[in-house]
Amino acid sequence: MTTALLTHSDCLLHQTPSGHAEQIARLEHVLAALDHPKFDPILRKKAPLVADDDLLRVHPKAHIDDIKDSAPESGIVQLDADTFMSEGSLSAALRAAGANTRAVDLVLSGEAQNAFAAVRPPGHHAERQTPMGFCLFGSVAVGTKYALEVHGLKRVAIIDFDVHHGNGTQDLLEGDPRVFFASSHQMPLYPGTGHAHETGAANNVLNVPLAEGSNGEEMRRVYEETILPNVALFRPELIFISAGFDAHSADPLAGLNWSTEDFRWLTHRICDLADETCSGRVVSSLEGGYDLDALAECVAAHVEILMERGA
Ligand SMILES: [Zn+2]
Repeated sequence: MTTALLTHSDCLLHQTPSGHAEQIARLEHVLAALDHPKFDPILRKKAPLVADDDLLRVHPKAHIDDIKDSAPESGIVQLDADTFMSEGSLSAALRAAGANTRAVDLVLSGEAQNAFAAVRPPGHHAERQTPMGFCLFGSVAVGTKYALEVHGLKRVAIIDFDVHHGNGTQDLLEGDPRVFFASSHQMPLYPGTGHAHETGAANNVLNVPLAEGSNGEEMRRVYEETILPNVALFRPELIFISAGFDAHSADPLAGLNWSTEDFRWLTHRICDLADETCSGRVVSSLEGGYDLDALAECVAAHVEILMERGA
């Protein structure tokens, strides 16, 4: 088997104001890093536009209509303090979610062992009715519900290692006992949620806050002692990763001190867990990561390990 890479040039058309951290150059750097002979064996697929039915499993129609109606014909409109839409944003966001449903198809059909969605905008801050934190739709949540409802899986786990709490994913899925959501994140930090006492409406949420300045050693400890064992107990049939790389020491938006090597280690350990519980089935989707060089280096390392483990 192999690793699938899902992306689309439309994801390069989502414009944000000059100086905004979530910029087109992020994905350009990621795609340039993946444009290397060592990634030749990868199964490259265009991310489709997600179907409305797939969005409707996590967002009410009013939210979907609001986002569609907000898309400007030109220029840039502001949806909240740091979330914007340009002419190309709608199709970028629809493809970011569609990359996740298509990745589920590829991994569950056995066409790919695992998959990475190189997409933007990110999704893990989008709540049911609220775009926020650069996010319009909850792409990983959409993929998770798709795996449960369309493919009939009974248990899906999400590991969110973005430096920010995945409040949107938690909001969209915490009522569903077929989902286990585990997040590590810096606290205090945007969006302000993700306390350890937030355990989910179905007792299916594990939040592990990390102190500013903490490093990869602390990350490895909490994953080994808390996050990985709890996900294993859930016995997932598929593991999603909300793969944000903004816990890197070089990142301008946060204050954790993980190295590229730490992300490499974490990817290996999540693949180990997937091997133990779900025949190695992993779908990873790009969330944050705002230092362009660190982001590109981390994604390349992450995908390299997925390939190694999926071979
Ligand atoms: Zn983030």
